[in-house]
Amino acid sequence: MKPRILIIEDEPAISDTISYALETDGFETTCLTAGRSVMSLLSKEKIDLIILDIGLPDISGFELCKEIRKIHALPIIFLTARSEEIDRVVGLEIGADDYVSKPFSPRELSARVKAVLRRMQPEPLTSVCCSFQIDEIRQKISYYDHGLELSRYEYLLMKIFIRRPGQVFSREHIMDQVWDEPEASMDRTVDAHIKNIRIKLKAVKPDIDPIITHRGTGYSLKEGL
Ligand code: CA
Repeated sequence: MKPRILIIEDEPAISDTISYALETDGFETTCLTAGRSVMSLLSKEKIDLIILDIGLPDISGFELCKEIRKIHALPIIFLTARSEEIDRVVGLEIGADDYVSKPFSPRELSARVKAVLRRMQPEPLTSVCCSFQIDEIRQKISYYDHGLELSRYEYLLMKIFIRRPGQVFSREHIMDQVWDEPEASMDRTVDAHIKNIRIKLKAVKPDIDPIITHRGTGYSLKEGL
């Protein structure tokens, strides 16, 4: 499902440009040239974010934002044309999620839309094998509901395993995926990190060693954990 963006802007040249940029970036767009029909549209359609021009012919964007906010919690990005508008937006009196001042680059606006939507996202929790949970936002991994204290490299390394239980990864592959400068490190680096991770996993479940060593090839994560 593509996120749907509602553009409320009375200048067709501007809304067309925005619409084109957003659709190129994988969004769906709906355009309105005035504020009057917004509330009825919002009650019928699922909108993920609103781009709202402050200078509309029938109602000010600020007033409209207040009306919308009484009923809907969805994010709003303002389009401002004058510096006094920016002052009000920045003053947070209105509670905008972001604003862009005219003239703006459509690509920048699209990037802002993505950033606001990302902030709104519920935290992605990836669970591939049920005993491990990856929290991508906090860069944390839990093991049997126990949060692991992992270094950055240990976290990245475990992520490779958890995504594909049972697959054997060579030290070279792991180096390449995890370390920024693979040539600066050696195979022993991977071994040392695996050793540390094993100690941390063992502290949670002493009777299980979920990482399997494959002599001469590499490591894998035990399947069916
Ligand atoms: Ca306008």
